[in-house]
Amino acid sequence: MFTKELEVTLQKASADQIKPKPDQNSLGFGQFFTDHMFMMQWNRQQGWHDACIKPYQPFTLEPAAMVFHYGQAIFEGMKAYRGKDNQIFLFRPEDNLARMNQSALRMCMPRFPQERVLQALRAMVYLDQEWVPSTQGATLYIRPTMIATEPMLGLRPAQEYFFFIICCPVGAYYSEGFNPTKIYVEDKYVRAVPGGVGNAKTAGNYAASVKAQVEAQEKGYTQVLWLDAVERKYIEEVGTSNIFFLINDELITPPLEGTILPGVTRNSVLQLARDWGYQVSERRLTIDEIFAADKAGTLQEGFGTGTAAVIAPVGELCYRDQTIRINGGKTGTLAKRLFEELQAIQFGYQEDPHKWRVRVG
Ligand SMILES: *Cc1c(COP(=O)(O)O)cnc(C)c1O
Repeated sequence: MFTKELEVTLQKASADQIKPKPDQNSLGFGQFFTDHMFMMQWNRQQGWHDACIKPYQPFTLEPAAMVFHYGQAIFEGMKAYRGKDNQIFLFRPEDNLARMNQSALRMCMPRFPQERVLQALRAMVYLDQEWVPSTQGATLYIRPTMIATEPMLGLRPAQEYFFFIICCPVGAYYSEGFNPTKIYVEDKYVRAVPGGVGNAKTAGNYAASVKAQVEAQEKGYTQVLWLDAVERKYIEEVGTSNIFFLINDELITPPLEGTILPGVTRNSVLQLARDWGYQVSERRLTIDEIFAADKAGTLQEGFGTGTAAVIAPVGELCYRDQTIRINGGKTGTLAKRLFEELQAIQFGYQEDPHKWRVRVG
């Protein structure tokens, strides 16, 4: 499909297009966008073309653009970290781009040249390097996205697409301390079904999950723990993160059988825990097993994993009419160790034996 190397042009923001930087201490999440974006287009005749790094700007789409009607939209989430000696790093960006191409396959969208896009991404982050925050724990969040743009109302794979990457500086996830969250075990709504699109980072999955999140928040919980859609007993994910439990010194996470997003953080946690000699299992785990472990006194820790939070400890679980506290509602030793190790690798303060870091510039 990529007969010739994709050419990427560069159009730098002019002095009057450079935006003032937001206050580094009140960045929040996803509110401010950097000076540049990457964009390219695809159609049947030309494949990927018109690739450019250019000033961040709106684009126009026809109301008939297929993404609005049938939802062919996929995205990724990754970060750039300013760390040791003011260097800027990406964390396993190849894995994110490879996963995006997997999502593209599932959604009948065109695959893109990963190497070339990574080169362009690095160039763009370098160009916008002043936007990579320097305050503790703050990062530059990177959002690659692909949407169907062909104006057509028949249901079939679109024949025109936009691919773009935008970036936003985001604050430290744990500005008020690395504290556990209260999680509601969802037994009304489901996230993904076998044969569905749960393992693709496609927009509709998130639209479909908002209702459960809103209802859980109304009940006083931060997020939901999803159960499998068939038997409603196996745990799958927590909100938009992967989930781990430490029971009787066994670190357990659900296996990748199609309904779970294959997280880069999940994979990194599995690797580190194995490196440290933990017994690690990718296996099915029922909610009943977790509650039974709590009764037996063998439930040690629970935590979510994802790019945004890195590690998100679970302090409390509510399932039907029962509530349990995990580790006395406190952050566990393993969660803390993983959080610190991953951050130290991401910000360049720690050896990187698995070659996860990619330097920008
Ligand atoms: C993005 C995402 C994750 C986490 O993936 P990371 O690569 O670790 O950021 C987990 N679950 C869902 C549903 C996601 O969308």
